[in-house]
Amino acid sequence: DLQTELHDRDFEQVVLCRDPEVGLESVIAVHDTTLGPSLGGVRMRHYPSRAAARADALNLAQAMTYKSALAGVPLGGGKSVINADPRVANRDEVLIAHAKYIAALNGRYIPALDMGTSVRDLELIGRHVPVVAAQRGDPSYYTARGVVRSIEVALEACDGRTISGSRVAIQGLGNVGLHVAAMLTGQGAEVLGADIDPARVQRAVDEFGITGVDLADVLSAEVDVLAPCAGGGVVDDQTLPRLRTTALVGAANNVLSAASLARDLRERGIVHVPDFVANAGGLIAVEAELRDDARGLEERVDAIADTAREVLNRSTTAGTDVVSVALSMAKEIVEANRKYRPYF
Ligand code: NAD
Repeated sequence: DLQTELHDRDFEQVVLCRDPEVGLESVIAVHDTTLGPSLGGVRMRHYPSRAAARADALNLAQAMTYKSALAGVPLGGGKSVINADPRVANRDEVLIAHAKYIAALNGRYIPALDMGTSVRDLELIGRHVPVVAAQRGDPSYYTARGVVRSIEVALEACDGRTISGSRVAIQGLGNVGLHVAAMLTGQGAEVLGADIDPARVQRAVDEFGITGVDLADVLSAEVDVLAPCAGGGVVDDQTLPRLRTTALVGAANNVLSAASLARDLRERGIVHVPDFVANAGGLIAVEAELRDDARGLEERVDAIADTAREVLNRSTTAGTDVVSVALSMAKEIVEANRKYRPYF
């Protein structure tokens, strides 16, 4: 049952919300507030089932705890999902009803942008809650910067290769993917890219000189690095045997459809930096914006490289896959701070 699941996964609090008058059904998941108030996006999506909506909220909230811990950010892990079509006619009413439930948590959950919500939505929510990460600045440059730093570390681990002269395939040329393409071509890499939107590919070809490839071919391209920057779950039992890359490092959350696939990657000798290590740059930027203090921001994002290097080194020393290693490092950080717990 749910209570057992919350116990087994160390969840502090999960709020199931309903407002039948406006048609709201939502979930607010607060995984852990040891390091600070939980921060996470408000995702708006029509899920195939209530169980799917709840599972998404729990998985994403838990990942936020570990992402924050490893990024050295004083925040806990949370997430909320509104189970509704983002095009619903009374969208604002639904968002406000959700915001009122967030407000009742008294700052233990800080809402931020996610799939299906916009800056304008966050501003609307912000009128009803104590703290909101309105994200007027675009964090995707910082996410991309951390991904590129992680790519450098992964290449270094592949016989000391460098970005200059390497071949990188990017799946998804959206906010993050385009920045990654710009930085990599700027550093002398040969970049291949694919996107379901042909205009995004054309833009990357024209502006950064990348080579466009077919959607069906990008995952199996013969490259030094494969960088998934579209959706999650792209590496699964079917696609993993087709990978022809030396390293896997991208921005997409939950790139592996199951954490156990990290072992298979290791067995195939593919160097992998877990997504929740590589893509933390945006979170670091959002937290800086919350405090209104951008001092040292780029250096703090660049320090993702140190964490990525430590994960790869510990994995080699211990003979364990990188995801297990990164999770245990994150849990160590949380546990070491457990007795302070300022946010309870
Ligand atoms: P985005 O929506 O701007 O870009 C995603 C791009 O992928 C779009 O151009 C879309 O057309 C394309 N796409 C979708 N499905 C595809 C497919 N099957 N094949 C090829 N292309 C496809 O999103 P974003 O902000 O660039 O984020 C990219 C990923 O990184 C997401 O998974 C997101 O959760 C994750 N992420 C983003 C940030 C950030 O700062 N924006 C931070 C952490 C993680």
